[in-house]
Amino acid sequence: MIFAIFLLKYNILYEVTIDGEVIGYITDKNEIEDEINNYIESKDKGVAFRNLEVETEYKPKFVSNKETNREEVLDKIKENISTTYTAYGITIDGNIQTYVSTEEEADKIVNDLQNEYKDKLALDIGVKQIFEKEVIETLDETTAVSKLKSENIDVKVAKLEEEAKQAEESKKEEESSKVVVAVRPISGGTITSRFGERSSIRSSAHTGLDLAAPSGTPIKAAASGTVIFSGTSGSYGKIVKIKCDNGYEMWYAHCSKLYVSVGQRVSAGDKIAAVGSTGNSTGPHLHFEIRKNGKALNPQNFM
Ligand SMILES: [Zn+2]
Repeated sequence: MIFAIFLLKYNILYEVTIDGEVIGYITDKNEIEDEINNYIESKDKGVAFRNLEVETEYKPKFVSNKETNREEVLDKIKENISTTYTAYGITIDGNIQTYVSTEEEADKIVNDLQNEYKDKLALDIGVKQIFEKEVIETLDETTAVSKLKSENIDVKVAKLEEEAKQAEESKKEEESSKVVVAVRPISGGTITSRFGERSSIRSSAHTGLDLAAPSGTPIKAAASGTVIFSGTSGSYGKIVKIKCDNGYEMWYAHCSKLYVSVGQRVSAGDKIAAVGSTGNSTGPHLHFEIRKNGKALNPQNFM
């Protein structure tokens, strides 16, 4: 009888402690432990593992008038469970550019991109698994691929294409600038004064090449272009200036006759004037001048 009264008054509860500190009382120890273990082992999306960072103890106690606080106990224990998250980073040139959830997705992205770009780009792409204490934001495969392309790979491809285009253009430019004199402006013609020479009849170094020929000898356009001047100009006498398609100007001076007018298109080899001795000249010759950006260049470098 006494024993029965004792049972009515006292219950067996479990006192729960975290690192020795009492956090509450529960009735079913096994049930709580199962729930904690299930939580630790649960692998929600992105979770690598969980770990209970403290020591918990459940001590059976005979107590009276103690209230249990199961939910509070559970919450306090869970607060002390750390979670480590994982994700797979796709690296380009060693730097992680985006994250996906699974290794399979990561490997597939890497293989697909390597195949897609193998002819365009030496793509340094890889996978790196990372672990963090916070949730790692991952993308689905399609979104990850388009992010990698738009932010990195396509930028690289565009840069390579731009470089190739520029190399091609400068090669073309170099080639076109080489082919300046397509046709010798007069057939034969003795060189009587070279570019840069000084003489008593000039105030400064010679700006062209003098080719002596009988008066009336046809002068041919050395390259195709547009006539920008045809008339008399001081010491040059009668002169034709042609702006070539590649930006060079060619001047034909001391002429006796001019056959072309301003604005006219001429092709290399077209007859444009006749040799004479107009202007500052001591005998019939062609003064042939090549200019670019206002500067006289040595015509013999182009012939
Ligand atoms: Zn001259």
